[in-house]
Amino acid sequence: MATPKRNLSPTLWMVLFGLLMMLSVSLFSAGDEVVAIPYSQFQTYLDAGKVKQVVVNGETIRGTLNEPLPGGKTGFSTIAVPRELAGALSKQNVEYSATPSSGTFGTLLGWIVPPLLFVGVWMFMSRGSGGGMAGGLFSIGRSKAKLVSAETNIKVDFDDVAGVDEAKAELHEIVDFLKRPDEYGRLGAHIPRGILLVGPPGTGKTLLARAVAGESGVPFFSTNGAEFVEMFVGVGASRVRDLFEKARGSAPCIIFIDELDALGRARGASPMGGQDEKEQTLNQLLAEMDGFDRSVAIVVLAATNRPEILDPALLRAGRFDRQVLVDRPDKIGRVQILAIHLKKLTLSPDVKMEDIAALTPGFTGADLANLANEAAVLATRRGGDAIGMADFTGAVERIVAGLEKKSRILIPRERRIVAYHEMGHALVSLAIPGSDPIQKVSIIPRGIGALGYTMQRPTDDRFLMGKHELENKMAVLMGGRAAETLLGDDISTGASDDLAKATDIARGMVLRFGMDDGLGPVAWDTEQGQFLGQPGAFWQPRRFSDQTAHEIDQAVRARLAAALARAITILTANRAALDTGAALLLERESLGAEDMPAVTMSV
Ligand code: ADP
Ligand code: MG
Ligand code: ZN
Repeated sequence: MATPKRNLSPTLWMVLFGLLMMLSVSLFSAGDEVVAIPYSQFQTYLDAGKVKQVVVNGETIRGTLNEPLPGGKTGFSTIAVPRELAGALSKQNVEYSATPSSGTFGTLLGWIVPPLLFVGVWMFMSRGSGGGMAGGLFSIGRSKAKLVSAETNIKVDFDDVAGVDEAKAELHEIVDFLKRPDEYGRLGAHIPRGILLVGPPGTGKTLLARAVAGESGVPFFSTNGAEFVEMFVGVGASRVRDLFEKARGSAPCIIFIDELDALGRARGASPMGGQDEKEQTLNQLLAEMDGFDRSVAIVVLAATNRPEILDPALLRAGRFDRQVLVDRPDKIGRVQILAIHLKKLTLSPDVKMEDIAALTPGFTGADLANLANEAAVLATRRGGDAIGMADFTGAVERIVAGLEKKSRILIPRERRIVAYHEMGHALVSLAIPGSDPIQKVSIIPRGIGALGYTMQRPTDDRFLMGKHELENKMAVLMGGRAAETLLGDDISTGASDDLAKATDIARGMVLRFGMDDGLGPVAWDTEQGQFLGQPGAFWQPRRFSDQTAHEIDQAVRARLAAALARAITILTANRAALDTGAALLLERESLGAEDMPAVTMSV
């Protein structure tokens, strides 16, 4: 007995069915020991008494003769001609025969056309989803990952990627591992299975993945999350299986899945159909990532610009548990990227990369590559023999207009506000002893919504937080708004996220942690309202009086106001540091801990 193949997919069934039908058609029409003869000849044989036996089916007559026909066969078939006509024709010694009225041809057509149509439509559909004509038919379950042999095809290395030094540093380890997997295995060390490159479009994620392959000289299997999303249930999953099977065959190697979000969207997130298929595909990916042996040197790199919509299961240990941020470059980064893209161009001596970088805050690597090309186009069009600074400024203006529409670029006034805002957070944090140290302050827009950011590194994992710590945190959160207040003109919407976070802390202190003296050590609110982490699943009645509700509101407001006042006091005392810090930030766009101006401590 044949063992049934694992997961015989519906498409495979369709192929079998189609083949069966075609086979039956060919059997049916197969001429065995029969020769087609004209009806007149049949009449002659009949008159000569040579016909042994006949089978009549409508107008078709099949039979055998007593003696073989010229070809050596005794079987014959012919089609009857109406009797009177036949008589008349015989008299004149005319050779006559007939063709079937609806005929075997029609019957054949009836048999062949439907399966052909069926196969045709199906091929069309599979082609629509990316496969070639011939490839689409029999390799619908195959992954479309192209095997690019690194030795011959990938010429990209880390020198071709600039402005993302942190990401490069993290990926160096992967390159080392892929070059010498045995050495790592010797001490039992293993390398992360999956690394997720996170960042806005055009920052060089795909480029980095290729550079890792180029640097380590291993095969690079590149695919796109969208290619796994198919109409037929099971196809995506079998593509994933296929991809990993191929990769296992050529380890050490890299699998690169671009736009992972197309495939790894949180389950149940899309209200439309296709859920089963996506879920199967995602499950297959998870299974493959868990499944392979630690010692097999396969690294799965994936890229996304929307990590927040990924299924949490994808980010768990052993899967894409390491995330590498590929951010928009700062000014120095942009100079380095320009150096790469201007290398091949003929530049006039007035072109200064520092000046171009200063003109292009918020540009990604792809924007800069585009800029270099635009400038070259402008110079060519005006008939110049080198690309001048004016060409670059012209190109910048053009591109900026497009980017401003997509609101990816800040106008100068906004940049100043953002610089003060972020510096405000940083300085308040520096002035309060025991705050988490500042790691980086930046006014490069990150993701959606945030115009700048201040990154603090928590000194250690915390389970308990003291009252003072919470108050300090609130003051740091208010630092942005406080700095804007000091700037004098106006206050902006930029603080909305900070305010929301600070309000959460204040409400927690008052309602849950019993930290407000006025309201006493009472848990006015508990977190029972959450069912399995889903807010709003249970409705919970308020458990305090209107009077208390009023007091709670006042207490929360007072805490927030106190935090803001404290931040303002700190910044006022450090006004000079705020101004120099903001100016430096405007100039360099991102500052590390070592660039921070000195502040006077506050208690
Ligand atoms: P992503 O995958 O993040 O959307 P890509 O890697 O496809 O971005 O980048 C597109 C192009 O932009 C690259 O081929 C390269 O020419 C240019 N580019 C992007 N980022 C960089 C960078 N950091 N350094 C040099 N060139 C870059
Ligand atoms: Mg890409
Ligand atoms: Zn802020």
